[in-house]
Amino acid sequence: MNEKEMYQALKQKLERVVPDVELRYKAGLAVEINRLKKEKNAVILGHNYMEPALFYSIPDFVGDSLELSRKAAQTDKDIIIFCGVKFMAETAKILNPTKTVLIPSDKAGCSLAESITADDVRALKARFPGVPVVTYVNTYADVKAESDICCTSGNAAAVVQSLKADTIIFLPDEYLARNVAKETGKHIIIPTSLLSPHFRNSQLDANENNDEQKWGDERGAMICWRGRCEVHEKFTVQDIQNVRAQFPEVVILAHPECSPEVTAASDFSGSTSAMIRYVQETKAPQYLILTECSMGDNIAAANPDKDMLRLCAVRCPHMNQITLEDTLESLKQTRYIVEVPEEIRMRAFKAVQRMIAIG
Ligand code: SF4
Repeated sequence: MNEKEMYQALKQKLERVVPDVELRYKAGLAVEINRLKKEKNAVILGHNYMEPALFYSIPDFVGDSLELSRKAAQTDKDIIIFCGVKFMAETAKILNPTKTVLIPSDKAGCSLAESITADDVRALKARFPGVPVVTYVNTYADVKAESDICCTSGNAAAVVQSLKADTIIFLPDEYLARNVAKETGKHIIIPTSLLSPHFRNSQLDANENNDEQKWGDERGAMICWRGRCEVHEKFTVQDIQNVRAQFPEVVILAHPECSPEVTAASDFSGSTSAMIRYVQETKAPQYLILTECSMGDNIAAANPDKDMLRLCAVRCPHMNQITLEDTLESLKQTRYIVEVPEEIRMRAFKAVQRMIAIG
């Protein structure tokens, strides 16, 4: 595709969401990236949260963490460029140790991944010996390596049920844990004494300091952490009430990283891909998606016949680090190479593989 064709393709898809001048500029970058991608035998994976012009121009595959992990595991290309955040690129490396995995920016972190360390997991295992550990894929490789199995927001309940264990350690997203606990009939324990002072002393703990005392008295627990997605924690029940007052027939979709109160007040809760499918397969007067801004734009672009309301106050600052400019530099300079020490990779691989086997 030449630059003119790329511009036309982007314009057709995105003219309602991206200014024309931006589309013209980005079409040129995208054509150059696609040329280099071929020359270097690379594959580009694009997360659903990528900005619209990137999302619709350079990835060979788009999707959520789980779908992209699967694609990463199947590729025969020499280079994998992960347009997503660092924990995702690490997962691609875990599954493809012999390939070169690149991430376009070394600043693309994640508030969830940064909420927990491998030492924290070891302390939890010592405190609750023999209890299986499930970690959300939004963690770094050394945390995955301490886990029995990983999960995504799309398969978290299925992973928990697959373990057939009465008590589970589920890390690090507190809201996802609470949503999954509700679905699987478990109650939450937060071992506050093991949390870092930052979490222990936060306002968030004010109502739940007694959670740990339940340990020993009750079975069927989900022991969780205080991690939060800095994007999804911002949505409130009040937001939902305000929108429903104005649009009584609106269908509201919430990501399971939102609080249980927000998911309960919504009409549907699911992973990014599940939300995309829901919009495609249903017919409602309006939809509101409580998730990251760019994904809302990408769904709106893919469904021009649907009326998508915007409640877009929150762009993930980490996903926002990934740009077409940086992706081009990444290809030109073979930067930033993602490495995972082999000893950690092998242990993390087992946890990720177990998850992929469940689906
Ligand atoms: S949206 Fe939330 S969970 Fe996803 S990368 Fe950003 S901070 Fe992490």
